[in-house]
Amino acid sequence: MRKRVNQPTGWKGASGTKVHYHLYEHDYDYYPESWTDEEGRDFREGYYDENGNYYANILADGATTMLKCEYCGNRILYTMKEGDLPSCDKCGSQFDIQIKDKVADDKRQSKSKIIDNIYMFIGLGAVLFYICMFVGVCVFMISGAAKAFNEKKEESSQTVYVEEILRNCSLDGEDWYDPVTETWFWFNDEEQPYQWQYWVEGISSDYGDYGWMEYDPDESAWYIETSDGVWTLLPDKYDASSLWHMNDEYTNQFEED
Ligand SMILES: [Zn+2]
Repeated sequence: MRKRVNQPTGWKGASGTKVHYHLYEHDYDYYPESWTDEEGRDFREGYYDENGNYYANILADGATTMLKCEYCGNRILYTMKEGDLPSCDKCGSQFDIQIKDKVADDKRQSKSKIIDNIYMFIGLGAVLFYICMFVGVCVFMISGAAKAFNEKKEESSQTVYVEEILRNCSLDGEDWYDPVTETWFWFNDEEQPYQWQYWVEGISSDYGDYGWMEYDPDESAWYIETSDGVWTLLPDKYDASSLWHMNDEYTNQFEED
């Protein structure tokens, strides 16, 4: 907006609103009727620019202005077209136009250059967008494949095939678990001699916090931990024939590569 000086005074706007035009050569206030201010100064219907210059009619590039016929007083709203001289639709006279406010040709060019640049920018944006989408999809697919691979790897490392019972067993927490015989088992490599230990539902569960069992292949006998560090022969009341154990008690075949 240009700084306004020498402006009309005392406008009351009884019959309409003052309209402001911010155009290429000037800024204009349009007053829809004539009036007299309190000190008796007369002002006329029409346009006053930022310097207080008066125009009865203006044409504006890309804007609609009110035009008034100086012969019959008819008013029309008119949007400027190149090479077109507006005439009154009541009496046929040509409107008296004081100024055609339009973009200077060099500015119009730079304006269209700016628009070209904007389109180029949008075009580049679109290209970048598609590249990002493509890369994103690739990364997504690769990470998905990697995840699936890892899951599979993890899955295979958490399942073992136990020859003695001819089936797969999975990790349940720290221990392997066979759901058919309700047996948890692990290779105890914390105390010598390293060997397999078994916790069997229905037997071990009778011993509260203890109840881990070991099989002694030399004696062909089962031992059970009945309290801390106390290992006793498995009592006869338990059916030992229902138990299974590793063929080699002292080898952890699941950790061999
Ligand atoms: Zn007219």
